[in-house]
Amino acid sequence: MAEKFMDAALAMLPNQACFFIADQYVVYDYAAAPERVKDGVHSVDSFPPGSATGIPGALFQPNRIITAALPGKGGYTGALYFFSGPRYVRYDEGLNTFAAGVRDTAPAWNLPAAAADPDGCFNGAKNRKAFCYFFKGAQYWRYIWANDAVSGGYPKPISTLLNMPVGLHAGIDAAVDGVASAGSENFDAGYLFKDDKYTRFDWVNDGEGEPHAGALRDTGDGWPGLLELLAAARAKSEALTMVARAVDLTTRKTLGTLSAAEATLVDAALDVHFKSSSAATAATALAGLATIATTLNQSATLFHYRTHDEAMADEHRPPGEAPSAAYTFGIGSSPAWPLGAIMFTRQYLARSPSNRVLSLIHEAVHIFDAASGTPANHIPEWWVSPGARAGFGLPAVINFAGAAPPTFYDTQPGAAAAHNPASFAAYASHVATGSDVRALP
Ligand SMILES: [Zn+2]
Repeated sequence: MAEKFMDAALAMLPNQACFFIADQYVVYDYAAAPERVKDGVHSVDSFPPGSATGIPGALFQPNRIITAALPGKGGYTGALYFFSGPRYVRYDEGLNTFAAGVRDTAPAWNLPAAAADPDGCFNGAKNRKAFCYFFKGAQYWRYIWANDAVSGGYPKPISTLLNMPVGLHAGIDAAVDGVASAGSENFDAGYLFKDDKYTRFDWVNDGEGEPHAGALRDTGDGWPGLLELLAAARAKSEALTMVARAVDLTTRKTLGTLSAAEATLVDAALDVHFKSSSAATAATALAGLATIATTLNQSATLFHYRTHDEAMADEHRPPGEAPSAAYTFGIGSSPAWPLGAIMFTRQYLARSPSNRVLSLIHEAVHIFDAASGTPANHIPEWWVSPGARAGFGLPAVINFAGAAPPTFYDTQPGAAAAHNPASFAAYASHVATGSDVRALP
């Protein structure tokens, strides 16, 4: 099933590219050997990675989404442009700062309105190095940096680019310049992305024919770790929204300011997931949710992509087994990851987007609560007593991969539920969405 993994991409010196989804981004390292995504998921409130300042919030109206991004060339070399809908901001690489102001793209760039809200854009190279290209829907425009204007004869259909795979004819999600180590014009190819596929677009010198696309390939194969961390990035964004909603409702329960309907929902959710709707239980849930949010906001250092072989070694699994979709080293539990780590493998992509969100909330608890992994505490929300399964639409027979937990989720004592990562994930989902949905991972 088609799934959009990225909103925008941007090449950065040296040898890096940022890929944006929702209000988060990840960094791909062309220079790693073998090349792979760099660890960490970053908020757009921190750019470049690790910076205390981020992409100006005034760019984002209404949504905190980068829709396209482009390094400047020619007279604009050293500028990085971030587009959100019809407007943009400029980052100056030399000054390490964003220029003041958010501007309307169409008048500032002399672009037609359709091109000024691009799906993606990248630079040409070799005998097309004077140009950049804006993609919108099924069309693209060629732009001449030195003229601040579109070339005559555009837009043209994407399908007219030589060898362009049919899967990209209707439009793209993002475009990015290739590796540029010695200078922003020193690259051979750009890349166009759609869902979980991409094509390499080769630039040519005079006498070498036309620039041309290659075959449609799986991004998961050509860009190790990129889709895994982008999936984690989107899940983080959605998890923070879900947790914030749960924090708000739970806080207002403690203050006594919920509406009657809200109070009924929150009390029911506390009873189901923490076995009591007392004020003390609400305070326990609230403290856990706040720490989950703090933990997820440390994704720049906590989140890591792990290859199949790395994950098999991390988890001490025998050959023939598969790694977990996501797994955690709590604070102090591993010499290799003293501050904790949340790991994502290829298996994470097989989870549904909603399950990825719940599993992120779950893994965050494992980071800070050393008691969260003990068998009596660590009970999945879908491991319910036989009489309760039908009510959730869960299968009558659940084949547990390991030893079955000692008790069911619905019969777990409250003291254990307070240390169960599943309780926090299921509670946050229950109060944020208004319904208690349980599904096998
Ligand atoms: Zn767990």
